[in-house]
Amino acid sequence: MQPFDYFSPKTLPEAVEILSRHNGDARVVAGGTDLLLKMKGGRLAPKAIVNIKRLAELRGISETSNSKLQTPNYHLPITTIGALTTLEELRRSPIIRERYPSLCDAANTMASVQIRNLATVGGNMCNAAPSADLAPIFIALDASAVIAGPGGERRVPLEEFFVGPGKTVLESGELLASLEAPPPVGPSLYLKHSPRAHMDIAVVGVGLAAQLSGGVCESARIVLGAVAPVPLRVRRAEAELIGGPFSAERIDRAAKIAAEEAQPIDDVRGAVWYRRKMVEVLVRRGLTAIGGIEN
Ligand SMILES: Cc1cc2nc3c(=O)[nH]c(=O)nc-3n(C[C@H](O)[C@H](O)[C@H](O)COP(=O)(O)OP(=O)(O)OC[C@H]3O[C@@H](n4cnc5c(N)ncnc54)[C@H](O)[C@@H]3O)c2cc1C
Repeated sequence: MQPFDYFSPKTLPEAVEILSRHNGDARVVAGGTDLLLKMKGGRLAPKAIVNIKRLAELRGISETSNSKLQTPNYHLPITTIGALTTLEELRRSPIIRERYPSLCDAANTMASVQIRNLATVGGNMCNAAPSADLAPIFIALDASAVIAGPGGERRVPLEEFFVGPGKTVLESGELLASLEAPPPVGPSLYLKHSPRAHMDIAVVGVGLAAQLSGGVCESARIVLGAVAPVPLRVRRAEAELIGGPFSAERIDRAAKIAAEEAQPIDDVRGAVWYRRKMVEVLVRRGLTAIGGIEN
């Protein structure tokens, strides 16, 4: 590993100042479960490391009144999930369990208890691996990224946060402060397929959310992980569902469209045809469960 300068700021403005001063040559470290592997493997050699673990502003899960977001159920609170929230804190949080159980499902599929106690929600987003498990489900839940930087705070829909493998919209001096999730509009689900049941990254991950009223689908979000350079929202498949009955036929068509729209690569973890097939299977399975449809 290359030598590097180490900083451990106590406040957010201090962290932003250090990052800005290094003009892209400094890296944030949170849990270190992705970053340290890359540094040890020689894939990253930052000149400085900024440990953000002491930043109280980035901790905790809280609910606040919904004054900023114009969303359905606007009278219900929005949920803020600090970037330093560990995967274990996420899956154990009473707020998350009650309001967004699909996030718990996603966290449950990830890594081991040891890793989950170190790994953070912010790290999972900012590492921007196409297979990151939390990305598809947070996008399905219509979450936004709250970014802190030299110019203050800005919000970006999480759907627009990822720009390529390992790349996000974060600019020099910026860091992810939290994710904001609007009130859920209906049921949601995360399904993951990987060759091993435990301690394996996704070959395909699917985040799904739908708003159903009297058997009619009012809105739907279908987001695929590990089958494109960034988490992929499949609007063409969503359109197949919206405005009509949430029937087995429509679900089947949506699942087939999702498989067509996926842009998987061949690698040791799965061939293109296999990943496409698994997209179809998981989307169909997930939507069928959301709709409570008998098989
Ligand atoms: C054995 C093992 C199993 C794993 N299993 C899974 C799995 O099943 N699913 C999965 O999705 N991942 C898995 N991972 C990957 C990893 O644990 C997660 O992506 C984790 O959430 C990363 O969080 P971290 O805090 O450790 O990130 P770090 O390693 O600290 O950081 C990752 C990247 O994000 C940047 N960063 C971190 N926080 C911020 C911030 N707030 N603002 C700006 N930049 C930031 C860092 O600079 C770095 O580039 C696994 C890793 C290991 C080692």
